[in-house]
Amino acid sequence: MIVILKNNPNRDQLESLIHWLQEKGVIIHTSIGEAQTILGLVGDTSKLDIDLIAALDIVQDVKRVQEPYKNANRKFHPEDTVIPVRDTQIGGGTLTIMAGPCSVESEEQVVAIAKAVKASGATMLRGGAFKPRTSPYAFQGLGATGLEYLKVAREETGLPIVTELMDVTQLELFKDVDVIQIGARNMQNFDLLKAVGHQDKPVMIKRGMSATYEEWLMSAEYVMASGNDNVILCERGIRTFESYTRNTLDVAAIPVLRALTHLPIVIDPSHATGKYWLVEPLARAAVAAGTDGLQIEVHNDPSHALCDGPQSLKPEVFDPLARKLIRLHVFMRGLDQEGLD
Ligand code: PEP
Ligand code: MN
Repeated sequence: MIVILKNNPNRDQLESLIHWLQEKGVIIHTSIGEAQTILGLVGDTSKLDIDLIAALDIVQDVKRVQEPYKNANRKFHPEDTVIPVRDTQIGGGTLTIMAGPCSVESEEQVVAIAKAVKASGATMLRGGAFKPRTSPYAFQGLGATGLEYLKVAREETGLPIVTELMDVTQLELFKDVDVIQIGARNMQNFDLLKAVGHQDKPVMIKRGMSATYEEWLMSAEYVMASGNDNVILCERGIRTFESYTRNTLDVAAIPVLRALTHLPIVIDPSHATGKYWLVEPLARAAVAAGTDGLQIEVHNDPSHALCDGPQSLKPEVFDPLARKLIRLHVFMRGLDQEGLD
């Protein structure tokens, strides 16, 4: 349920409303926007008398929220969520470009790639230390050592790091990363979602291969219900009947999520296609459709990459792409702000 307040509500009346609602056992999330202040109520609101609340002096409107996701719902929080990450931010009109190797392979490799992608305009470094591989015989990642190499790359470049957490038991090792990635295969690992909800680092949840928008948003809701509001959603392609591409990028996820949620949206054209030459057109489409960010795999020697070489861009291919995407984003924002006469 949401309670939309009139402008400049009387403080005493507001406090007694909040107190009364809390006594009824509901949890209240206050969203103070430029235009409106909204109280989002979570819990058993079935016994609350809507008419009684709506009749209060300070209340403009009361609405039930049908969707099962509440905290993640745009109705609860009409303004876009902006997530600060070190010197940068995700959302709020910026274009976050996360780039780096699928897997951290060595200190030299990740530092060299980090320097290259930074010079091209990337704002974050991606790289997997713990890898969810389909085959148990494939490279499983460098683990804790990989995290150390990522930190070295961050020291050298200043780029914040985003890396995947696969298991609750690894959380202690992730104290120093900047954004925790929850992979597609773990989107519905509810214990993992609760665990990252109990800490305060931003969490990027990749869409499960066959997950609906609602299931994906419910995963965000798990993190938020545990106390962490800093959630980012990453579309990385879904399973369809098409087998030419690794997955099918659902570009519609951008406007759909924009409508359903206030959380920032990132697009991963690398895992979505599995082919390096499809990364550019889909990244462009994502920027044109209004994504808040991109996650792109870059490798200095794709043909020898230990993971996902075929979809990785060489730094010299990433460079003009990143520059074009930054310009395209500025251009699109200009169009949105000026309109067309
Ligand atoms: C990754 O980003 O390295 C990864 C494994 O992605 P996904 O979970 O989307 O498959
Ligand atoms: Mn990968």
